[in-house]
Amino acid sequence: MKRKILVVEDELDILEVLEFNLAREGFKVLTSSDGEEGLALVKSEAPDLVLLDLMLPGMDGIEICRRIREDPVTSQTVVVMLTAKSEESDVVLGLGIGADDYIAKPFSPREVIARVKANLRRAPDVQSKTREDSFRYGDLVVDYAKHEVTLAGSPQSFTATEFRLLRFLADHQGRVFTRDELLTRGIKGEVVVVDRNIDVHIRSIRKKLGPHRDLIETIRGVGYRFKEVS
Ligand code: CA
Repeated sequence: MKRKILVVEDELDILEVLEFNLAREGFKVLTSSDGEEGLALVKSEAPDLVLLDLMLPGMDGIEICRRIREDPVTSQTVVVMLTAKSEESDVVLGLGIGADDYIAKPFSPREVIARVKANLRRAPDVQSKTREDSFRYGDLVVDYAKHEVTLAGSPQSFTATEFRLLRFLADHQGRVFTRDELLTRGIKGEVVVVDRNIDVHIRSIRKKLGPHRDLIETIRGVGYRFKEVS
């Protein structure tokens, strides 16, 4: 499984160099050059590690780091600050508010890669650790044991059929299923007679997934697919 790195940096040449080198190392790389957008991506994309520039338009790196730590959904995310030499007193503050590490500019891509790998080794693999008993994506948690779906901490009411269908799709990310396959495999074992119209169930699930509705993709003329995210 590719580990996901988010780079938030407003100097575009640095952003491009990091993106290129991290992707070449086999990481899945997301980028943003804006603080507020960066924070939104931490919540919606659940990266394993964030390379976070200190001075950013929108919201600075210290504030972003503080908010990542405050939110129980993102609090385990590894944060590595990127900083100019002159900003080192701020970095101390950054570490005080919960950054895992920092790298001073100018840095070589090789150095950044090494530090990213070291920090990931120390960090728990949040996504694979929880894969057995739940599906997590940003602020969405599908708890298989409790049969509960929560969005930003608040429980969503799913019918048994919807839950089963959502779990089946999440367990088979990236695979396309026809409506017939979803009926026979996705909701098999359903004891009560359910509405056999898969489209109705999918529509309802998407509505309840709110901002994450696009996790379930419609493949025109074929059926549905759960986006490959972990
Ligand atoms: Ca900057």
